[in-house]
Amino acid sequence: MRVTTEARNRQRAYSGVVNDPAVDAQDVQLVLDFINTVDAETGVDVLDEESRWAAWLAERRFGHEVAARDARPFRDGLRYAVGDEHATAVAAGMAVRMDLSKGAPRLVGEDVLAAVLAAGYRLAVLGEWSRIKICPAHDCRWAFFDRSRNRSRTWCSMQVCGNREKARTWRERTRVR
Ligand SMILES: [Zn+2]
Repeated sequence: MRVTTEARNRQRAYSGVVNDPAVDAQDVQLVLDFINTVDAETGVDVLDEESRWAAWLAERRFGHEVAARDARPFRDGLRYAVGDEHATAVAAGMAVRMDLSKGAPRLVGEDVLAAVLAAGYRLAVLGEWSRIKICPAHDCRWAFFDRSRNRSRTWCSMQVCGNREKARTWRERTRVR
């Protein structure tokens, strides 16, 4: 799964790429990784198996305080929030603290869900939440961060899903003629 993740989320050298220093790359990565714990292409859902979820957590240095089944509603709610039409909205309640030790207030998460929530909230406050998008290809639905200046990116990868869609449209058009 890791190989697929990297191939599909590779950062590309666009002209007009936004690299706002206020956006914490780790926040972006954590939110994306959590949203992408389900992979429509391979059919693998990390939250289907407690051991797989445990490995996911350990890889990111989180403890295993939250069971996979308790993480699922929030994960699906986040997918809904970034435009996945297969997901449903939930109201997420979890423990976040306000850390004031470094001057400016900062939300800090106690467990993985709260950490994801805090990271997502920081992106929302910065006006960057709408850059998180779901690839519209039915067998993909991978979450990615749109760094283009005018937020116009549609596909997780133009090389993969974008070209596949173009080919499909072309086939349909030529069939009609
Ligand atoms: Zn895609």
